[in-house]
Amino acid sequence: MEKKKQALPARRQVVMSGIRPTGFLHLGNYFGAVRNYVRMQEEYECYFMVADLHSLTTHPDTKELKANVHRVLAENIACGLDPDKVALYCQSHLYETCELYLYLCMLAYKGELEKTSTFKEKARKQPDNINAGLLTYPVLQTADIIIHRARYVPVGKDQEQHLEMARNFVNRFNHRYGEVFPEPAAFNFGEELLKIPSLDGAGKMSKSENQYATIYLSDDDELIRKKVMRAKTDPGPAERNSAKPDYIENLFLLMKLVGTGDEVKKFDEDFNNCTIRYGDMKKQLAEDMVKFVHPIREKAEAFRNDEKYLKEVMQKGAEKATKSANATMERVREAMGLKYF
Ligand code: ADP
Repeated sequence: MEKKKQALPARRQVVMSGIRPTGFLHLGNYFGAVRNYVRMQEEYECYFMVADLHSLTTHPDTKELKANVHRVLAENIACGLDPDKVALYCQSHLYETCELYLYLCMLAYKGELEKTSTFKEKARKQPDNINAGLLTYPVLQTADIIIHRARYVPVGKDQEQHLEMARNFVNRFNHRYGEVFPEPAAFNFGEELLKIPSLDGAGKMSKSENQYATIYLSDDDELIRKKVMRAKTDPGPAERNSAKPDYIENLFLLMKLVGTGDEVKKFDEDFNNCTIRYGDMKKQLAEDMVKFVHPIREKAEAFRNDEKYLKEVMQKGAEKATKSANATMERVREAMGLKYF
């Protein structure tokens, strides 16, 4: 008897994102990216990677790289990412990305790459090392995303422009060679993309800058308290219901993210009545922050010390990612007319 062909389940929507192993993960990475990874892993087909190749554009010295790759993996898992549910892998283990990157380079123009704000900012910061990798960073990032034909990219606000460029490259590819890729979009669960500001009121929390104004997931309780207590404030509002300055708004945002709604409401009322005591608010925020970071730090330390486990995670992740990448690259080579036999 002829076997009835079973219908394949519709492919779940694909999600892809990555974090550079350039230092310790911080609250910006958590709320801008990792928290969404964890939320998405149940419903989507997810690919998350440690972007080690990207880190070479700004951190050419690789002495700390292995430890940093392990740290980022461990911290992601400690935040709730489950390597059995997602493909958690290392960017350099997925060789196909480099092939796709090369093809996309032919569709990216020097002028548009030079205009990218992250390129301009980084070129300013490292004038002696304005390498081609730095210039083509958005191209490699596009390859990372579309190698899995991903639609959703959970990222922070700083990545908005890169995603717009990714859509341009995708449209150019599809227009020239035929519809292969869906348009990827930045994603934050229906909300605005987040930017977690640094505690000194200048710029964003970041792995490599503003270290005293950034809360890392590895900070111990005392250090967290110290950092929060040093956050920028002022003598307080002089008039009722006045607008909050940015750096005060930032403290409220952080409290909303790590604390309870009741506290936010209380301090908000105090602010509007001009009775707010920032010292008290920071003490409360520090304790909320400690409660939030402490368990993640402990779990991450345990995973980080388990090299055997991390190796297994990377191998399994690379296997899953390679399978998905191979399927895409077959379509790409076919569409581009690169199949000669
Ligand atoms: P960093 O800027 O700390 O080196 P990456 O460039 O590796 O971080 O970014 C990893 C992810 O974390 C990206 O999705 C990025 O948008 C997000 N991210 C980084 N910093 C912040 C921040 N301060 N607020 C919100 N999201 C952030």
